[in-house]
Amino acid sequence: MTDLLLTGARPWTPGEPLEPADIAVSGGRIAAVGPDLAGAPEHQGAQVVDLGGAIVLPGLVDAHCHLDKTMFGGPWTPNTGGRTLEGRIRNGEGRRAELGVPSADYAANLLRAMVAAGTSFVRSHIDIDPEVGLAGVEAVREAAARLAGKVDVELVAFPQGGLLTRPGVPGLLEAALRDGVGVVGGLDPAGFDRDPAGQLDLLFGLAERYGAKIDVHLHDQGLLGAWEYELIVERTKATGMAGRVAISHAYAMGGLEPDHQRRIADALADAGVAMITCAVGGAPVVPVRLMAETGARLAIGNDGIRDLWTPYGDGDMLRRVNQVAFRDRLMSDPEIELALAAGTHGGAAVLGLADYGLAVGCNADLLAVNATAPAEAVVSVPVRRLVVKGGAVVAHDGVLAD
Ligand SMILES: [Zn+2]
Repeated sequence: MTDLLLTGARPWTPGEPLEPADIAVSGGRIAAVGPDLAGAPEHQGAQVVDLGGAIVLPGLVDAHCHLDKTMFGGPWTPNTGGRTLEGRIRNGEGRRAELGVPSADYAANLLRAMVAAGTSFVRSHIDIDPEVGLAGVEAVREAAARLAGKVDVELVAFPQGGLLTRPGVPGLLEAALRDGVGVVGGLDPAGFDRDPAGQLDLLFGLAERYGAKIDVHLHDQGLLGAWEYELIVERTKATGMAGRVAISHAYAMGGLEPDHQRRIADALADAGVAMITCAVGGAPVVPVRLMAETGARLAIGNDGIRDLWTPYGDGDMLRRVNQVAFRDRLMSDPEIELALAAGTHGGAAVLGLADYGLAVGCNADLLAVNATAPAEAVVSVPVRRLVVKGGAVVAHDGVLAD
């Protein structure tokens, strides 16, 4: 028996033309996709929503954010972070107690905004250091519990203040993994910890012991950053972790010579190592077309939002896809759709989501937008007309349903 019938839809699958279709949802999954489903007896009695020709996208995936840091929905806080990585790290740690972060309330505020904008899945890094301990894990878990059924949240135990250079952090990361956090994070193994082999060996060792995935923040630029990609690729192959390792930010990638870029992208594709780009500041974005050409996985995230690092951001993943496409100078419709694919299917691959998409049998996590083409949706960032998670309507016209 069908629970929800979306009529007048145009479902989008990357690389395929849009065709008008109705979408039937039953038991939280997509039960049928095709023309004129409304008349069929099995769909009688369902909640019917006429989408009037709107494009339907699979639920957006924010593959990189920092829910524990945010002050979203709180009072405006002038930014005092300064311009260096080290300075922003120290500012972030020094003022969080005064400002009440990590906060389950602020994290829940941000998750609500994300859901209203069509995000169904989130990967959030959580600062782990001797002062804050695992408080961020607890706060974000509480926030995610409040939004249960509306969005799924995956946590990364993230050594924001350094790993090897910060006594006590390796033990705290291990405690987080023992406590059920599923991803272990790293931070500039060379540029910050100044011991790339040491940090990466520790991360891969922890991941193997706890069956965790790996997601390394890598701001290091130029040949230093590129060399660290190679170290990560080598270890991923050696440990059989294909599909479970990601490099976040990867600022070096966009600045390399074209032939070097291609060699790295081929190596990433071969080893099953993903990159996650956020279009932050002036740093180069990961080249979207090259990643698609080589088959290397690419995902997109919002990174920090209204926190002690940045006053910017609103949690809207479609807007972030727009920023990545703009920064990467994607101009033709097929190119712009590559960025949209990174913000949807690419993120799903990085998070390891099963049954993701708009095919029959997939989980019914989707959103509808008024646009003539997917590229127009990316460029114009329209209000999300409808958001469905697990087969239930969770937002209408940009507003969360109760
Ligand atoms: Zn980050």
